[in-house]
Amino acid sequence: LVSRDLKEEDTVITFPGTNATIGGRDLAVIAGPCSIETREQAFAAAEQVAAAGAQFFRGGAYKPRTSPYAFQGLGEEALKIMVEIRERYGLRIVTEAIDTEALELVDHYADVIQIGARNMQNYSLLKAAGRKRKPVLLKRGLAATLEEFLMAAEYVMSEGNYQVILCERGIRTFADHTRNTLDLSIVPAVQRLSHLPIIVDPSHGTGKRNKVIPLARAAVAVGADGLIVEVHHAPDKALSDGAQSIYPEQFVQLMDECSQIATVL
Ligand code: PEP
Ligand code: MN
Repeated sequence: LVSRDLKEEDTVITFPGTNATIGGRDLAVIAGPCSIETREQAFAAAEQVAAAGAQFFRGGAYKPRTSPYAFQGLGEEALKIMVEIRERYGLRIVTEAIDTEALELVDHYADVIQIGARNMQNYSLLKAAGRKRKPVLLKRGLAATLEEFLMAAEYVMSEGNYQVILCERGIRTFADHTRNTLDLSIVPAVQRLSHLPIIVDPSHGTGKRNKVIPLARAAVAVGADGLIVEVHHAPDKALSDGAQSIYPEQFVQLMDECSQIATVL
């Protein structure tokens, strides 16, 4: 089902009531904080990313943290804050479901169900997401090959949900100058084999604020269908991923530079 042999034309995901799309000609941009921390923090980010031209808002309600003692997310309270953000700014909401219990709530409140890198091969979660009717944003596993990545998408589609968006977010390599190694070469590789949209996450892909804009530009240049970027109004105070979160002014710059590249393609 993921294959271009079966479906030649690109899959374009639409969002009724908006002109936002993922896949096709326009660049889709998803931006917002790693985690929803407070209503004020979430609104501060949402206002600024909406003004800069993002069509989608991201914010974690359920966080897959390395340490069980680190901030785990506000759960349903965060989902309700994001519903208010959708109403206020018209942004569509993208948020992660870390398990089947969170999936029910994410499906209820959000517009796009994110499956995180650590869950890319959680087949029961993939199948459960495949039984939903909301688009699924599937992040590449930390050590997943192209085939494993596409097969994970196949799990979702095999249950009847064909609205899958792939996301390259960096993989584990020996290189330690960045948090992960952003594998931009997977973008054209996916596009050759599959009709599904593929977007890039330069935030988790690099882990470093000063590398987010250059890698976002590169992702657009290589032909990605969109970007997912962490933006925080006060990254030094962020409860998660502050070091890779860009300032709102940097997001304005990112949007400007990336849209210039997108127009010449
Ligand atoms: C995220 O997008 O906040 C996230 C946890 O990403 P990943 O699953 O790619 O680590
Ligand atoms: Mn994060």
